[in-house]
Amino acid sequence: MNPNSRKTKQRDAVSAVLERAERPLSVGEVLEAASKQIEGLGVATVYRAVNALLEDGWIEAVEIPGEAVRYERSDKGHHHHFQCDKCERVFDIAGCVDSIRKLVPPKFRVKDHAVTFYGTCATCTG
Ligand SMILES: [Zn+2]
Ligand SMILES: [Zn+2]
Repeated sequence: MNPNSRKTKQRDAVSAVLERAERPLSVGEVLEAASKQIEGLGVATVYRAVNALLEDGWIEAVEIPGEAVRYERSDKGHHHHFQCDKCERVFDIAGCVDSIRKLVPPKFRVKDHAVTFYGTCATCTG
């Protein structure tokens, strides 16, 4: 197999993992999932593939303070996140609340907001 097609296969495996993901994944989680399809996949390769997808605008970074950056598809629309303090996974929370904008003082212009819930996920709650 020529080196280029191997590279393409690795990138495809990384995009497939992020395509199927129902929650934001860290590079470590992408590596773990993609390794099931491709042998000998390295973390540097996953970083390169993730950066290429970021540049394409196909994925975006989910940054939670004090946490490894996670990535999700850009086409998900506005939503929020929930981090489980037991398994440390981050989940998507669909939708938003209108009243959140009412917290902002008059004449302040809001461009965006991010909300992270912290607690225990259903699996960890048992
Ligand atoms: Zn959990
Ligand atoms: Zn919102």
